[in-house]
Parts: sequence; structure tokens; C-alpha cells
Amino acid sequence: MNRTIELAKIVADGDMIRYEIHDNSGLNLLQKKKVDAWIRFYHADRFGFDLNKLPESVLAIPITLYLLRVTWLYGVDLVLNSIDKMLYENVDAIRDAYSQIFGSFEDKWRGEIRVKEIVENKLPDSQYKNIVFFSGGIDAIHAGINNPGRKSVLVSIPDVENKSQAEGPLREEKFRLIEEFSKTIGSNWLLISNNFNKDIFNSVESIVKRNHIPVIRQYAAVGKYVPNLCSVAPFAYALGIKSLIMGSGFEQIENEMKWALDGTNPIISNAFKFAGISFAEQDGLYTRRSLKVKNIVSTFDRQNIHIKIWACFDNSKEQCGECTKCVRTQLNILCANENPKDWGFALFDEKYFSRFIHSYRWFEETPGWVWDIVDSIDDTHTYPYCNELLHWLKQIGYKKYYNRTLQVRKLMKLSRVFKVHKYPHYASVVCRRLIKR
Ligand SMILES: [Zn+2]
Repeated sequence: MNRTIELAKIVADGDMIRYEIHDNSGLNLLQKKKVDAWIRFYHADRFGFDLNKLPESVLAIPITLYLLRVTWLYGVDLVLNSIDKMLYENVDAIRDAYSQIFGSFEDKWRGEIRVKEIVENKLPDSQYKNIVFFSGGIDAIHAGINNPGRKSVLVSIPDVENKSQAEGPLREEKFRLIEEFSKTIGSNWLLISNNFNKDIFNSVESIVKRNHIPVIRQYAAVGKYVPNLCSVAPFAYALGIKSLIMGSGFEQIENEMKWALDGTNPIISNAFKFAGISFAEQDGLYTRRSLKVKNIVSTFDRQNIHIKIWACFDNSKEQCGECTKCVRTQLNILCANENPKDWGFALFDEKYFSRFIHSYRWFEETPGWVWDIVDSIDDTHTYPYCNELLHWLKQIGYKKYYNRTLQVRKLMKLSRVFKVHKYPHYASVVCRRLIKR
């Protein structure tokens, strides 16, 4: 008998869809042999949204997209009762898109979709035009200001982030953020949560980790992003919303344009099509992050308001101010002549922040983000906040700054291994020498 993952049950229950999934693969792909997964739609009753009116083939779209990977990497069949026709016809295109980005998915890894009925779903007419995915970060806010008004619905799905937690202060904060931001741009909003990342698959499914080539491992880590965004599918279908918009994660370094090697790559989002719904062109496809921040600042400056920008992954009421995204965003804001304190970074302190950057503790995975910020600093301009710091950064240059952060990062790792904190004088001498080089 073939190895299978089976979607055994789907139930619409109030504002939730509940799925029961059985793992008959013998590979321990799922966390348990029987997994209960769910999606919850908050604030959806205002739209007259009723899950009970939707066909099973529509309720099944999110979980089908999320589970599809088992038919690409493990030779496992996915067993379903019902599937949307457009989705069914696009499965190969989605697989090809991932395969193109993350290295070749081999045919011998392939399983089938076994389904009883294929259903053609016709999208109803609608007063709404777009779903705009909204996390509160720079890319999402930029997408929001480019698609304002009543025809757009801002949708936040905090669980798409790998580090997100089901409940806690961050969830509450996201509620507040989306409500406030939607008022500012005159749009509607909806918040969705699910337990997909937390409870379905074993962490970076162990078999991929052991047996497959590194790029495929990367897919296993980040390939759930777009499928998880598609939790919005039943809502979009019920309201007849054709087009899904997300902010681009585009990254540039000097003259080289680069797409993030993750779920935000447009090749991937363009491949997802179901029930008459598809992704529109990503917002800000060729707009640098530094320019996006300037656009955001000038849009709200004209209205004389400040909004809260949320970049942090910490499950906390305030942004930490020190993680990569917090630091990057605060620098972007400083370069736009603004005080990060006014744009959601309550803990920002000019002196502390300058010391932090001076000691090379702004750790980026790739030098592109450092290039973007350093390049956006005008050395003939006097900045109202952290002026000395910005001119110092410009003078150091992005390559030197980035390379030194790599050294400092190594040193910090070593110091943890050898417990250097027991010898503070020696540690500080080594540190100073390294930084001076
Ligand atoms: Zn942070």
C-alpha cells in the first residue's frame, strides 16, 4: 500500500475551520499520527462571512496547499475528498516554481494527489478588490499606502512567521496595529490565526534534513510561507476578492537586483492560483527598502501623523530595538530624518543606539541591507538624529562595516565557548585591537 497523508475530516465551526489529518506515511512527517489543525478568522462577521456556506473544496484550499510538499519531496500520496479545480490544475506550476528556486525536485521523490471530486468554484461578484497582507513591517505598510481605501482588506496572519507564537503580547499588538493602520488608510481589516507551523509538520522534516541537498533543506525551512498566507483563501472566495497583494522582499546590492531566496520570491507567489484567486504583482518589486521608508514617512508627514512600524520578531509589547530587523529599520528611519521613537521604537535612545552600531553589533546575513542604508546616507546633509553616527557609517563604507561585523560575531561566539567573560580585561583588549584593524 502507498504511503499517504490523508485529510480525513473538515468541519466549519463558528469562526474556525478544523481539519483532521492522518499520517500514514511511516516517515513521521507529522508531529503525531493524527493531527488536529485549525484556522480562525477574527473580525470576519462584519463582512457577513459565514464558513458554513462554503463548499468543502474551498475550505480545503489552505490545508491542501500546506500539505502539498509531501507529494514533492517524500513520494507520499496526499488523500483528499475534494479539491478546487483551478488549484488542482496549478499544482505542477507551484512545484516547478519551488523547484526553480530551491534546486531540482527529483521525479523519484514524487507522490500523487488522490481525490474523489474535482470542483470548479466560481468566484462571486464583489465590492472588494484586493487582499493586502499586513504584518506591520516596512514592505507591508508600503503595500498598504499604495492600495488604500474601502476596496482593500488588510489581512494579518502573524503565524506565517517561523518564530511566531500562538498567543501573547505580540498577537495583541498586531491586533492593535492593523486596526489603527486600517483607520489611517481607510481600509477594512481581518486577522487570521492558525496552528499550521506550530502543530503540523515535524520541525524541518527530519528526513529532508538528513538526506536532501542543502537548497532543498532551505525549502523545507521557508517553503511554508506562501501556503500559510493562503489561509485567507476561504475568506477571499466568500467575498469574491480576486487579487492578493504582498509587499516584496526585494534586496539590491550596488547594481545587482536580488530576490530573497524565500517565500517572498515573486516566481513563487505568481504560481499560486485557486478558485479564481491569484497574487497580483508584488508591491514595491524594484523599490529599495530605504526608499520605501522615505515614501512612508513623506506620506504620513503630509497628513501630520506618525504610525507604528513593526519590524521585530520578539513576542513582546515593545520592539527589542536590537535584533537585525529592528536595527535596520531604525537606521532607515534615521536616514529619512525622523526619530525612531516617533515610529514605533519606544526603546530608542540616541546614545545607546550609536554605541551599538559603533561596536559592529548590527549583524546582517547578507551585505545588501548594509549597502542600501550606507548608500542612502547623504554626506553633505546634517541629520536631525544620530548625525555623527550616520556620517561615520558612510565613511566606513558598507564592505568594511559588514566584514567587521562578521569578525565581531565570530569573536562573540568564541567568547561564549571559552567563557571569556571571566577575563574581562583580556577580552576588551582583543576586541579593541580587532575593531581598530
Ligand atoms: Zn527586535
